[in-house]
Amino acid sequence: MRLTSIASGSSGNCIYIGTDNTHLLVDAGISCKRIVSGLSDLAIKPEEVEGILITHEHSDHIQGLGVLSRKYGIPIYATPGTARGILAYSGLGKFDESLVRPIQCGVDFTLGDITIDAFPIPHDANEPCAYVASCGEKRVAVATDIGVYDEEIVRHLSGLDALLLEANHDVKMLQVGSYPYYLKQRILGNRGHLSNENSGRLLSRILHDGFKGVLLGHLSKENNYERLAYETVKMEVTLGDCPYKGDDFPIAVAKRDQPSEIIFV
Ligand SMILES: [Zn+2]
Ligand SMILES: [Zn+2]
Repeated sequence: MRLTSIASGSSGNCIYIGTDNTHLLVDAGISCKRIVSGLSDLAIKPEEVEGILITHEHSDHIQGLGVLSRKYGIPIYATPGTARGILAYSGLGKFDESLVRPIQCGVDFTLGDITIDAFPIPHDANEPCAYVASCGEKRVAVATDIGVYDEEIVRHLSGLDALLLEANHDVKMLQVGSYPYYLKQRILGNRGHLSNENSGRLLSRILHDGFKGVLLGHLSKENNYERLAYETVKMEVTLGDCPYKGDDFPIAVAKRDQPSEIIFV
């Protein structure tokens, strides 16, 4: 399997997961043009994408969906709450509702040779979820927009080969930054975003000998920067009470505006 980010950050998200035979996107929060260009870097035509898995209806996850689905008619998979949010989002323009296929958290489904497990995450949207995709023994996941993690989330993310994980903000940068008070509270809240520190702590909980690498994603433009996210997550792993150090596994930071490196598992 392959996992990579076409774009990741608070201004737009689109992640690729695939095998030789099946190509999937998680979210379409950047322009159709950028998605098509990112796919072309992976030698994939948009017509070959089997489905778009949507995590939730916030614009940074769906704003490219209107044009993409009109042009290529790719099926869209979303929980009922997210599907409702997508259809209510005015920025998508004319939209073929029949492309939206409702899914249920906890009920696995299969697209091509990939099995998908959607599970709920705490975030201030209708019915947000994260996705684990598996093919044979291989498992990769995309988990962003998580206010707090709990044992259920740790359980779903255990035994992965690779992961794109949110490292949204540095708590101190956010606290002293220019965001209005209500927005700071929202981001720091239980239905907000995962800080660099908590991202490192969650990663410490799920590392195992077979883990191939993590891409840190959904970085805030205002309240984080690549080096800080990378160093903080690495330090949390080293200091945390897991048997691993931050250097034991590849940690990379997904780019906001361009495709990131590909993790092969
Ligand atoms: Zn969100
Ligand atoms: Zn988001």
